[in-house]
Amino acid sequence: MKAITVQPGHAGSASLDDVPEPALGEGSVLVEAIAVGVCGTDVEIVDGKYGWSPPGSDRLVLGHESLGKVVDPGGATGLKPGDLIVGIVRRPDPVPCPNCAVGEWDMCRNGQYTERGIKELHGFMSERWRIEPEYAMKVDRSLGLLGVLLEPTTVVAKAWEQVTAVGQRAFWEPRHVLVTGAGPIGLLAALLGKQRGLDVHVLDRVTTGAKPELVRQLGATYHACRANELGFQPDIIIECTGVGPVISDAVKSVAAGGIVCLTGVGTGGRTTGMVADAAASLVLRNNVIVGSVNANKRHWYKASESLLRADMAWLAQLVTRRERPEDFRRALARQADDIKVVVQFANP
Ligand SMILES: [Zn+2]
Repeated sequence: MKAITVQPGHAGSASLDDVPEPALGEGSVLVEAIAVGVCGTDVEIVDGKYGWSPPGSDRLVLGHESLGKVVDPGGATGLKPGDLIVGIVRRPDPVPCPNCAVGEWDMCRNGQYTERGIKELHGFMSERWRIEPEYAMKVDRSLGLLGVLLEPTTVVAKAWEQVTAVGQRAFWEPRHVLVTGAGPIGLLAALLGKQRGLDVHVLDRVTTGAKPELVRQLGATYHACRANELGFQPDIIIECTGVGPVISDAVKSVAAGGIVCLTGVGTGGRTTGMVADAAASLVLRNNVIVGSVNANKRHWYKASESLLRADMAWLAQLVTRRERPEDFRRALARQADDIKVVVQFANP
């Protein structure tokens, strides 16, 4: 079968290869790939800056934002041929640490977790893949191809849960939310903010195109300015750019008692000295900066509930480009109007 593979640590090594059928050891459920979303992590892996191949192999099958159709449930209860499923990305570490031991592998303490398509486990960019039944998330058929948005939605489901958890430290009635960055993570974070009945604002650089329009359709407010130029102080900021100066502005702009949740750190800007710079404000205004990465099964469940409650016509606009597996290089090359680009293997 065909698979998009990469030699981690080697820039430009990605290729569409003939590989053996997925090993039975990868799980009893056999799945036909439908689509795999592309994100910044995939680009970093292809650029040789991140990623680890499975032990005994020098290449890694890329892709962690999956959507597939069950070919053979392999005896798994609750799954039948034709069901749409998405594969959970992270697996608990083998020790396991206390968090992995209770199913909170997203909070792994020893870093020995593994991840499909990223860290020591093959990903989902192959014509067929296998998965353990307990890591297969069934998605509602009505979502169709949009099921590919489940993985990025888990990231924001966890981020919102973290914000809510931190908020419980004191009396707190948040009203105004700022999301920085109108990419797929930012737009999905804004969606979940609206689903919580909050006043949602989204900030990005562009002034025209799909991003401002998608924010408006959501009933949220779009801004093309800096966080400190909004004219109000958000109670919650979900930071989705990973860019140093944007993070710095966010920390300085959040309201007293407010929470800034960082969902990623990219290479777009330096964050050095940011915390020291913000420390006085953090203490005197009871602010919290909380980092959030990955998701556990509870977040996967919550994310699928959120997607089902969303307006399908709105969600459909997030997938701005679909490329064939042989055109994977085009999928990985960012274009100006991209929101979510997917490699499509088959129809749902
Ligand atoms: Zn662990």
